[in-house]
Formats: sequence, structure tokens, C-alpha cells
Amino acid sequence: MEIVRRVHSMKEIADRARGRGLRIGFVPTMGSLHEGHLTLIRKTDELADVVVVSSFVNPAQFGPGEDFERYPRDPTGDADLCVAEGVDYLFAPDPENLYPPGPRTFVEVEGLSARLEGASRPGHFRGVTTIVSKLLQVVRPHVVTFGAKDAQQAIVVKRMVVDLMFDVEVLVLPTVRDDDGLALSSRNRYLSPEQRTAAQAIPRALEAARQRVTEGGATPEEVVAAARAPIEAQELLQIDYLELVDGETLEPVETLDGEALLVLAVDCGETRLLDNTTVRP
Ligand code: AMP
Repeated sequence: MEIVRRVHSMKEIADRARGRGLRIGFVPTMGSLHEGHLTLIRKTDELADVVVVSSFVNPAQFGPGEDFERYPRDPTGDADLCVAEGVDYLFAPDPENLYPPGPRTFVEVEGLSARLEGASRPGHFRGVTTIVSKLLQVVRPHVVTFGAKDAQQAIVVKRMVVDLMFDVEVLVLPTVRDDDGLALSSRNRYLSPEQRTAAQAIPRALEAARQRVTEGGATPEEVVAAARAPIEAQELLQIDYLELVDGETLEPVETLDGEALLVLAVDCGETRLLDNTTVRP
């Protein structure tokens, strides 16, 4: 495996691969790789000849006072895991190389970026869509893979790819969970043992929502109430938002007559936990 630090080197590699008719698969990450990332890598490997993983903690998607400085970083561990998975290129650029001084151009998906996570973290999705655009230009993948764990991110990126006519297939893969049901996240390592136990109420909440929908005849309000209850029972958890929305527009659903997305953000001390599930009546 080759570790690539510079944008122009990555572009050359991508050009060479494309010139040889090879299919490039790309998994963008912020590093500190866990089994969730590795699942994306394995699936991408099945679909492509050349697998590129990027590891870059993107300053532009963190707001003031957020955890950019203390976001976990493990370059050696990431490289080892990528080697073990047979990754071809680990693109880990220096921030100055990816963000030369004085940028005036940003990519923003209107509307979708302002809802839910975007309402709580203004500018977050502008940071995400700008970096993903840059990475797509540099890596030039045929297929790019995201996790359903960050459902809104996947929805926003898919919209951007359609609107800006990026020539790439976007694949969204199911959330990988720990044995206790908690979605794997680089941020889980911030949790104390007590917080970790409390956080198990989140997968229970998703299950309660699915259950309520399966029983039949539920209104969106009832589904939301079923999901809120287990979380509200935990003193260590604070719901930021918990909504039942349309999986494309992210607008709240008024009646449950088709598939909908239950999406939530919960604060546990300083740690922000995101999760979601699809429900089908
Ligand atoms: P991150 O490094 O947290 O920015 O995540 C990089 C990619 O991995 C994103 O597409 C995430 O949605 C995805 N991802 C993170 N956690 C999980 C998980 N538990 N299951 C599946 N995909 C995940």
C-alpha cells in the first residue's frame, strides 16, 4: 500500500489508473478507522480494481467550540488496518495542501443542509460537501462509498452529485453496530463506562420505533414518542433532535403511509451521538 500525501500525486495515480481502464473505488473518512469503515472498504474492494481510502480530519466541517482539536487521530493504526484490508492507496493529505490559503469557493446544498444536523451545526454540511467535492476531483473515483450511519450526510452528498453532475456512483451501506447495539463511531471512545451504558438506550429507541410501526396504525407523533421514551429515561442523555422525516427531502412526514427515516442526535456529556433507522409500515 502507498500512503499519498500530496494532491498532485493522488491525481497522477488516479489518471494512471483510469488510463489503464481500471475502476477506482473510494472511501472518504476522517480516520481512526473502525469496523464501520472497514465494512465500507471491503464492499468497495468488491466493486473496484483500485481502492483509495482518504483519512483527513476536515477542519471546515467543525464549528467553533466543536471537537476538531481533540477528534481522535491514529495515523499508524489507520495505515495498519488499510494494509490488512488490501487498500491500494491511503490518501492522507496535509491540510495546507488540500486547502491552499484564501479559498473563496464553497459547495452548498441548499435546504437539505439546513435541516436537523445542519440546524444544530451551521456550516457543517457546507464543510462536508466542499471537501467531498474536492476529494472527488482529486481521486476521480468511479464509485464512492458512505455509511447510512450519517444518513443526512449521505442524502446531502447524493443530491450534490446529481446537481453538479459528478460522474460517480454513490453507494450507501448499512450501519455497523457494536454488540450492545450502539452504532460504531470514532467518537464512542470519548464515552465513560456510565455514558456508554446510558447510550445503549439509543438502539433501544430505534427498535421501539420500528416496533410501534410494525404494530400498525401509528401516527408519526406516536412513533416519535415511542423512540423518545427510552432516551428520556436516561439522565446522561439529552435529545437534540429526534424526527420522523422523508428519506429524500428530510421534511417531517405527516402520515405514515410509506417508508420514513427516524433520525436523531443525542448529546451525552460532550459527545454527540447520531443514529437513525428506516421504518416501514
Ligand atoms: P467518519 O470517519 O466518521 O467521517 O466516517 C467516514 C465514513 O464511514 C462515512 O461515510 C460514515 O457514514 C461511515 N461510517 C461511520 N461509522 C459507520 C458505521 N458504524 N457503520 C457504517 N458506516 C459508518
